[in-house]
Amino acid sequence: MKLSKKEADKLAEKFENKEPQEVLKWALDTFHPKISLASSFGAEDNVLVDMLSKINLKFRVFTLDTGRLNQETYDLIDKIRKKYNAQIEVYYPNTERVEKMVFQHGMNLFYDSVDYRRLCCRIRKVEPLMRALSGLDAWITGLRRAQSITRTGIKKIEIDEAHGNIVKVNPIVDWSKEQVWDYIKKNDVPYNVLYDKGYASIGCEPCTRPIKPGEDIRAGRWWWESPEMKECGLHVHKKK
Ligand code: SF4
Repeated sequence: MKLSKKEADKLAEKFENKEPQEVLKWALDTFHPKISLASSFGAEDNVLVDMLSKINLKFRVFTLDTGRLNQETYDLIDKIRKKYNAQIEVYYPNTERVEKMVFQHGMNLFYDSVDYRRLCCRIRKVEPLMRALSGLDAWITGLRRAQSITRTGIKKIEIDEAHGNIVKVNPIVDWSKEQVWDYIKKNDVPYNVLYDKGYASIGCEPCTRPIKPGEDIRAGRWWWESPEMKECGLHVHKKK
């Protein structure tokens, strides 16, 4: 099932002030089983897993294992898998592409230049994402507008032009960090223990660090780069 840009804009307007569960119910009713949650098992993604499990036990979720994640993240994936009886689809990078990249540029190439960092993100994340999305009519994300200056223009329903014009559903795009954690506490949702160690946003181990009080929540991601560079290519948004 496809939506036109006009239909998506209309739905985005309709759902702008609605609860995320209402958006998710519409999305599952419309697209299941050709809809899946993209999860890196950050706090927002776990909120959505909990909500989805309460709407349809057969919800789909996929994740990208870059090979450079923290052990705490792997532990959490199994915890979520057991708690929600979730069949988590895990996508890995192409082995030959990783081997060639490391042979040419080293294990930790991402620190050497923005281009090398993007190359690593492309091979370890963007290409596996393409495979994960192929065959889907829609995907769900835990993006929030308040997360970074690159995310302020996101709508609840969008057409994802970068991924074959499938539908992108962002049910908690208008939530604050406090709302996310409030939901986690009230609903006993598992979360990554790295949050308790000062992390605010969790990605790959070498590219993520805890933040200091008062720092921007994305300050711990690719901290050696300027804020407008801080996307890995998974989420492509047009400037408004
Ligand atoms: S976040 Fe870092 S390690 Fe992970 S894919 Fe991107 S550059 Fe590579």
